[in-house]
Amino acid sequence: MATLILAGSVGTGGPQNGKPHNDPADVAKVRARLTELGFQWVSGITTGTDKEFIRTIKLFQSIYKGKGQADEGDGRIDLHGTTHRWLAAQNAPGWVKVGSEGYGWKFTTPLAHGDDNGGYTTTWMADRIRWAAFEYATTAFFSVENAPPLWIRDCSPDKGGNAIGHKSHETGLDVDMRLPLLPPYTDKWDRLEGKEYSVKFHYDAALAQLKAIRSMMEPKLVLFNDPRCIKQGLCTHEANHGNHYHIRIKPPTRVEGIYK
Ligand SMILES: [Zn+2]
Repeated sequence: MATLILAGSVGTGGPQNGKPHNDPADVAKVRARLTELGFQWVSGITTGTDKEFIRTIKLFQSIYKGKGQADEGDGRIDLHGTTHRWLAAQNAPGWVKVGSEGYGWKFTTPLAHGDDNGGYTTTWMADRIRWAAFEYATTAFFSVENAPPLWIRDCSPDKGGNAIGHKSHETGLDVDMRLPLLPPYTDKWDRLEGKEYSVKFHYDAALAQLKAIRSMMEPKLVLFNDPRCIKQGLCTHEANHGNHYHIRIKPPTRVEGIYK
């Protein structure tokens, strides 16, 4: 059972209601919990006012709020407040490397700047990519010829925060996926432009992928510009989303751990 028992508040601000603030024992417990969840870069911090520690609390807050940018929190953990409860939750978001491949999906090189800019994500996203890929691959095996895997491209930077070349992608809740292509490009990924798009695009595979994404990923957004897919309610139009899907997932309902 996930557990995080604190005596007071941690992070920005000062004491409230006569409870301690940034008590060293509390800071150590939060540090240990964040480290356990995969936010390992805070493992060496010693004070509750440490800049990187505060940034990481804000990142964690932005994740459970379902935001695409990492500055959506106040950097403060109030005793028994929402942040405290999410940190203690059974399904608290962890931070992980996406990995290279699994059943029905493959990771491709991020658009630019390598894995440090797009090779990391939350455990929430990692799970849902696996669920969607399983659903897609199982369906496509019977019904779609030459079905490629889900091509997972940019997720988030190694420590969250600013992702070069993206407006969002800061919190491990966004993923870009390359489009499925027809033979002889089935096992390749490509940036499709203009004419190439209609020639190489594997529409039937895309339909199966988008349906699996809709049913298994709890998406808040699916951005992709194929008018046929939009007409079926599978995605919505957004500038610069003609050659990939951009998916943002919703946070799950919190499953409480022990926090008091
Ligand atoms: Zn994107």
